Amino acid sequence: MGSRHEKDKAVNVQVLLRCRPFNEDELRNNAPQVVTCNEYQREVAVSQAIAGKQIDRVFTFDKVFGPSAKQADLYDQAVVPIVNEVLEGFNCTIFAYGQTGTGKTYTMEGECRKAKSGPKGQLPADAGVIPRAVKQIFDTLERQNDEYSVKVTFLELYNEEITDLLAPEELSKIVLEERQKKPLPLMEDGKGGVLVRGLEEEIVTSAVEIFSLLERGSAKRRTAETLLNKQSSRSHSLFSITIHIKEATPEGEELIKCGKLNLVDLAGSENISRSGAREGRAREAGEINKSLLTLGRVITALVEHLGHIPYRDSKLTRLLRDSLGGRTKTCIIATVSPSVHCLEETLSTLDYAHRAK
Ligand code: ADP
Ligand code: MG
Repeated sequence: MGSRHEKDKAVNVQVLLRCRPFNEDELRNNAPQVVTCNEYQREVAVSQAIAGKQIDRVFTFDKVFGPSAKQADLYDQAVVPIVNEVLEGFNCTIFAYGQTGTGKTYTMEGECRKAKSGPKGQLPADAGVIPRAVKQIFDTLERQNDEYSVKVTFLELYNEEITDLLAPEELSKIVLEERQKKPLPLMEDGKGGVLVRGLEEEIVTSAVEIFSLLERGSAKRRTAETLLNKQSSRSHSLFSITIHIKEATPEGEELIKCGKLNLVDLAGSENISRSGAREGRAREAGEINKSLLTLGRVITALVEHLGHIPYRDSKLTRLLRDSLGGRTKTCIIATVSPSVHCLEETLSTLDYAHRAK
């Protein structure tokens, strides 16, 4: 226990747990609550009697956010320091991990369609991590007097294939099917990172622009879902913000700081446990498995200081290679439902997230 502090220094992986409120269905059906959050103790308790057998488990995380935690609470307590690192020129990654319907997209994006910015560029209360991070970045850059540029990319990984969510082409079934046959290739950049050839990089000049970008990306995701019968719960999305800051040193020299923030909305974690079971979907499930499982292994290898980190085993970990491990900061936000109906998935999410600590 006493080593926790030292471990924090050595490995910059933080694991947070967020439990969403009951939704209308669960309230209507009086779904019993099996998850209790203690934010002060940073503990999550799961308890339920099933067929005379009592389940009682308690998990500790770096931070715990209960059903009444607001978007701003989570952001201010967990994300602000990470974005500050990025502004200092480091690469950082934040993942949302959990069962479909537990609030991964709500946490990362918030309700974007409602989210036109309010008076004086203020963000709506529902805005998630992505718009808040962009606002923090611009607020900081505009306060400083350095030259800077901010670029974003937004891609989807489905079945180990990359689709650009910002590419401005026509959305037709034919175009999309061509795309499926020829997904964007991943290439080593010779500097330890990777490049996605042909990926659209959008230059952003203010925080409010991010809403239209997010909306464009989400619309494209929805169209592809309908036209190609994709299941959105099976895709990962990766939103990356790269910042270049040109600073003058006291000696009058120029210094370029470059930091990158990756915000990842992972495929539903239920795909891990149920994959492979259904015939015909085996390959797809296996491929989803691959990125989620490899991510788990990479994080375990980093946390346990293993010599070999299996970045190369999946597209997601190859994409994030320059932003996981080393001097980077990683934050996993595990999301769960409070309801008894999700009990099994909740326990497996808590186990997965806890292993990453
Ligand atoms: P996921 O992306 O994990 O599948 P969503 O983010 O789409 O889940 O969330 C499912 C539903 O629950 C959405 O309607 C969302 O607005 C709502 N929701 C999720 N988390 C919260 C929360 N913390 N507070 C309020 N509503 C939430
Ligand atoms: Mg989602």
